[in-house]
Amino acid sequence: MIIDENPIEKEAMEYFHRGERAEGLKIQDEFVNALREAIKTQDHCSCKKPCKYHGKCLECVAIHRAHQEHLPNCFQPMVNKKIEILSELTEHTMVKNLK
Ligand code: SF4
Repeated sequence: MIIDENPIEKEAMEYFHRGERAEGLKIQDEFVNALREAIKTQDHCSCKKPCKYHGKCLECVAIHRAHQEHLPNCFQPMVNKKIEILSELTEHTMVKNLK
């Protein structure tokens, strides 16, 4: 199962955006049920770092919330995509200023 950009969850969000919450929740439940089934046998964690908490989302997210320094690895591509769109507004000149 591919989690990132999952078409079932994307469809659920389309319903939420249209204000059709009940249908959105129904479809979202499909995603969650498929996820629960998949993670019984699949490694769902996209993080490549050697980490004691690999695949343990509860602990991983709590650790990142606790230290507040950065996001869990699996969130970073999603946030980078959003930042890239904003960065286009200044022709990515901010990248030169990164330390
Ligand atoms: S929250 Fe942490 S453990 Fe869960 S998939 Fe993301 S990086 Fe992996």
